[in-house]
Amino acid sequence: MLSIVSTPIGNLGDITLRALETLKTCDAIVCEDTRVTGQLLKLLNLPKKTLISCHGYSDEGKVAMILERLKSGQHLVLVSDAGTPGISDPGYAIVSRARENNIPMQAIPGPAAFLAALSASGLPINQFVYLGFLPLKKGRQTLLKTFIEEERTIVFYESVHRIEKTLKELAEVLKEQPERPVVIARELTKMHEMVVVTTVEKLPTVAESIVKKGEFVVVVGATR
Ligand code: SAM
Repeated sequence: MLSIVSTPIGNLGDITLRALETLKTCDAIVCEDTRVTGQLLKLLNLPKKTLISCHGYSDEGKVAMILERLKSGQHLVLVSDAGTPGISDPGYAIVSRARENNIPMQAIPGPAAFLAALSASGLPINQFVYLGFLPLKKGRQTLLKTFIEEERTIVFYESVHRIEKTLKELAEVLKEQPERPVVIARELTKMHEMVVVTTVEKLPTVAESIVKKGEFVVVVGATR
């Protein structure tokens, strides 16, 4: 059995009861970084487990070994460093291969940064487009230009190193829509959590003044 378990994106209190129980009773945990997951188990007062690091298709040998364990009847848990496995994180390779091999699976849902950002944004979220991280080069401008006509709320991830540049690019691409709302969520669920509600017009100023520390989610309102 494979359990796909979401873990906190900052605040440990966001671990679910099912996640705790599953992490406690499983045979081994497949994770991104054994140090991060080892530390999580320690902070949650959970027993030590065998930790298997796996980064997806690039780790073909590991994926095969994990499948063998699952086929032999072991209960494995899949986690990523934070949030929901497979959401801009490894996970897809193992889950898809487990499905192909008819391994019983369950998802144990919980935090994901884009969901927290959307729900706090105050923008319409009945429909949205999740883009993960924007491409760095090829296709970046083409994708950004699709924002001009997008009728659903857009949400994407950005790193601290690129947040200023990306917000300025966004302002340039959407300059004909100065009133369009943009919400920048930083360090969600953590001590320095901050949600900045602004517009395209003000983005260049916000881009320069926003604290360049931590993790960011950007939400762009729909074209009306
Ligand atoms: N699997 C994760 C999830 O379910 O959200 C996402 C992992 S992705 C490698 C990491 C990115 O998610 C960060 O660069 C940031 O854009 C976003 N992120 C993760 N935690 C966050 C937080 N607490 N506040 C804001 N953004 C966060």
